[in-house]
Amino acid sequence: MNKKISDEILDNLKKIIINPKCELNYRNGYELLVAVILSAQTKDKKVNEITKILFSKYKDPKSLKEAPINDVISIIKPLGLAKNKAFNIINMAKDLNEKYNDVVPNNYDDLVKLSGVGRKTANVILIELFNIPAFPVDTHLIRMSHIFGYSKSLNPLIVENDYKKYIKEEDYKLAHHLFLLFGRYHCNTLLIKKGNCQNCKMKDYCKKTAR
Ligand code: SF4
Repeated sequence: MNKKISDEILDNLKKIIINPKCELNYRNGYELLVAVILSAQTKDKKVNEITKILFSKYKDPKSLKEAPINDVISIIKPLGLAKNKAFNIINMAKDLNEKYNDVVPNNYDDLVKLSGVGRKTANVILIELFNIPAFPVDTHLIRMSHIFGYSKSLNPLIVENDYKKYIKEEDYKLAHHLFLLFGRYHCNTLLIKKGNCQNCKMKDYCKKTAR
């Protein structure tokens, strides 16, 4: 990998992913935080269906912190890991309400102190809510880093730093969305099994097909 190849990869992905943006629905920072925590190991589309119900009942951090945990579990059950996720969003709402006056913190150190918020979630909040350069890495980003030769690691922090060696800070947000959406809609296991690689517009840059 070098910066020239990386720029070419991003330029080509921009032609494939026409509207690179976050696919979670939210109206404010509280809703985005909840949605990102709930999105672990499930699809954004499913999260949007569930948060529509959840936010109609629990509109703000105060109402969610007072929610009976069993009610929250029953609402978010279709997303999986419901007990953990319910515990995390209720505790996150409590801290947001009591320590931050319902305002989502705009810095990494405070964000990761919130229940259920790890490095990836904090970085999503920084780029989406505050346009602060950050590079969230999830399973798609790890897979794409191997496909395009940015990284060989499975460790999200190493992968993040490997991407950052070649991508300009002002492009972090764009690159995150391009890799995530390309991995989600164009380069996933099902499509690869169906033979999608033959017509793939990114195959000249792909380490998998080069092998
Ligand atoms: S050629 Fe196949 S594996 Fe490579 S980027 Fe395209 S879809 Fe993914």
